[in-house]
Amino acid sequence: MKHQRSTAQWREMDAAHHLHPFTDTASLNEQGVRMITHADGIYLWDSEGNKILDGMAGLWCVNIGYGRKDLPEVAKRQMEELAYYNTFFKTSHPAVVELSHLLAEVAPKGFDHVFYTNSGSESVDTMIRMVRRYWDVKGKPQKKTLIGRWNGYHGSTIGGASLGGMSYMHEQGDLPIPGIVHVQQPWHYKYGKGMSADEFGKLAASWIEDKILEVGANKVAAFVGEPIQGAGGVIIPPASYWPEVQRICRKYDILLVADEVICGFGRTGHWFGQQQFGFTPDIFTTAKGLSSGYMPIGAVFVNNEVATTLAAGGDFNHGFTYSGHPVAAAVAHANVKALRDEGIVAAVQEDTGPYMQKRWREAFSRFEHVDDVRGVGLIQAFTLVKDKASQTLFDNWGEIGLMCRDIFFKHGLIMRACGDHIVSAPPLIISKDQIDELITTAVKCMEIFEQQLKERGLA
Ligand code: PMP
Repeated sequence: MKHQRSTAQWREMDAAHHLHPFTDTASLNEQGVRMITHADGIYLWDSEGNKILDGMAGLWCVNIGYGRKDLPEVAKRQMEELAYYNTFFKTSHPAVVELSHLLAEVAPKGFDHVFYTNSGSESVDTMIRMVRRYWDVKGKPQKKTLIGRWNGYHGSTIGGASLGGMSYMHEQGDLPIPGIVHVQQPWHYKYGKGMSADEFGKLAASWIEDKILEVGANKVAAFVGEPIQGAGGVIIPPASYWPEVQRICRKYDILLVADEVICGFGRTGHWFGQQQFGFTPDIFTTAKGLSSGYMPIGAVFVNNEVATTLAAGGDFNHGFTYSGHPVAAAVAHANVKALRDEGIVAAVQEDTGPYMQKRWREAFSRFEHVDDVRGVGLIQAFTLVKDKASQTLFDNWGEIGLMCRDIFFKHGLIMRACGDHIVSAPPLIISKDQIDELITTAVKCMEIFEQQLKERGLA
């Protein structure tokens, strides 16, 4: 595509008019933005012609990879046929019906109903309202409190940011809202020193039981967690955690909600993260991989019991102008069908996922300041540590992570720093050769990083 402006002009216009999310505007404008102009497969190109390997699939969302030719065709056809109509007043349209049917096929058994949104945050807010409505209809309106986790991420709306456990988000805008409480995350490395994985998983689950008893089971509506905490730094709980969480939720008659916005649609090699960890929620939220980022769309999946209860309550007074938007629905349908029929999710399970995990562990375990090298499917991470033997983290959590991330960027590789966790989640279509390329570049960057640590006297 021909662009008529120079990078400098774009930077100037961006600085003059565009407020960026999660950004220190003043410091960004000083540096100037990087303009991404096009993309193909797992690669991005910037306005200066640099080719960049996207080890993060955008924001963990471009599962199918960039540059598909079929998805824009589907969007064009749908726009021509029916660009928009709502689904509020006794109406539906073929695109949303076809998508719903397909989603019931790929979802775990018993999840035959979905409610559409435009994003992960909206899916989470929809879920919060659904959970509270569910208990109202059940005749237990006092069950209103939701339990989330510290360092969990559930979006940026008032509900999502409250349920999430990011203190730097809570600090802005008087969050969390009432009726939301948090428990500690199942981060074995930090909170389970000296314990076996099995023991720690059960201990971390018991913190939820403690919180339920503290609030009163008759007041707790739901526990909500990401199967793997993504933005929190790819915190993978021990195998004993989720089954125990499920047992506790059932024991106290509390809804179990999985936020599958990152794990959903193949990231772990299963369709949904709950299948990786062997638990069955009552509700789960999705977005991102549902359309692989080609259109904004999210969906809340509810099990048949929740669907029946909500239906018994009459009107559910909730919805968005673009719930089930025809173009987004048509594109999501084509995307999910391709993830299934082209064997993309299956390849993550059987081939590229195991290969990535083997290579990732071999490549990074040897570094002096890297520990807790972990991952599953195509989501992986390691933690930068001051001292491996004593499992000591660096002071000023996050500072070293950013320094490391900047080295990756400089070498044409996008990985993300979540505090001092370095994380990666590339498009699911990445090949084994491309995994080798990602690892080779990352290893080179880590060598530079450890050298810089020494030079700056930080280690
Ligand atoms: N939940 C989880 C688990 C997420 O990772 C995210 C986004 N990273 C969200 C919710 C919010 O999604 P969105 O940015 O589409 O609103």
